[in-house]
Amino acid sequence: MTLPVFDGHNDVVLRLDAGRDFFSESDEGHIDLPRAQRGRFAGGLFAVFVSSPELHEPAEGPSGPYALPLSPPIDPDAARARADHLVQILFGVEAQGGLRIVRSADDVTTALDDGELAAVLHFEGADAIRDLAELERDYQRGLRSLGLVWSRANRYAEGVPFRFPASPDTGPGLTAEGRELVRACNRLGVLVDLSHLNLRGFFDVAELSDAPLVASHSNVHALCASTRNLLDEQLDAIASSGGIVGVNFAVAFLREDGGLERDTPLDVVVQHIEYLVDRMGVEHVGLGSDFDGAAPPNELGDVAALPKLFDALRARGYDEATLAKIAHGNWRRVLHETWRD
Ligand code: ZN
Repeated sequence: MTLPVFDGHNDVVLRLDAGRDFFSESDEGHIDLPRAQRGRFAGGLFAVFVSSPELHEPAEGPSGPYALPLSPPIDPDAARARADHLVQILFGVEAQGGLRIVRSADDVTTALDDGELAAVLHFEGADAIRDLAELERDYQRGLRSLGLVWSRANRYAEGVPFRFPASPDTGPGLTAEGRELVRACNRLGVLVDLSHLNLRGFFDVAELSDAPLVASHSNVHALCASTRNLLDEQLDAIASSGGIVGVNFAVAFLREDGGLERDTPLDVVVQHIEYLVDRMGVEHVGLGSDFDGAAPPNELGDVAALPKLFDALRARGYDEATLAKIAHGNWRRVLHETWRD
């Protein structure tokens, strides 16, 4: 049995901008429509990510300890122009009938029933949002999820620099504008994503927000001590808020040694899932693949391989009802509660 998967994070929009055709099967990257259908990838958060000229992130290279500097902030006007361009790419795919940009939990259900990909328009970092009126305009055209930061600072908050091994407690919490932005997201019903945010920012949001806490694509710090992963106290806060952690398939955030070796067994993903289930309860665990944004284990090399992960979980004794929660049910519940529709 192949379960439909609703996933917390992908970067396919960047690949489409670089020339990939969404509608024909490629042997490069991780997501296109034919492979999505084969793996029963049913949708998820589709990231609009504005890169900066100087990105400090883990790439192919030596494993072991690293401590990269924080990427510099980007110009908000340039970020806006770039974000608008990427949003248009996603609308272009929708216009060709490749997916549906969903605005409500009902939209998600309808898309899944119709066998259409359900795409949540998500900004990975609020750099392009220059004021709250702009947030409302983005909401009107479909924005339903917003990461306060990528791994850099903006007017709202500061993300974590990529470091291993290191704590996510790397800098200051939210600014006054950041607090206003979280309140505005609560008011509109826009999901606030905490992945990439530092520890103080995380707990500022935990205190402020009246929505379930969400880390769309982050893993367990106790198993892989990357700044991008979550401490037990963060997992506890997410669980008690009714929120969710989407497990990230990036080997750099999975492996105990923090290394970038793609010849890594699929089982490390299972280990992170099991830790989260034990710590938080199965209701709070989902996927956040980071497909087309980071390097997964070879065994989980693209969306078509998703059923292998569920087979591995079945082999560990998970029943079908539990697997359905991890595959899509928990994400759908959290979206429903966050969007209040
Ligand atoms: Zn990310």
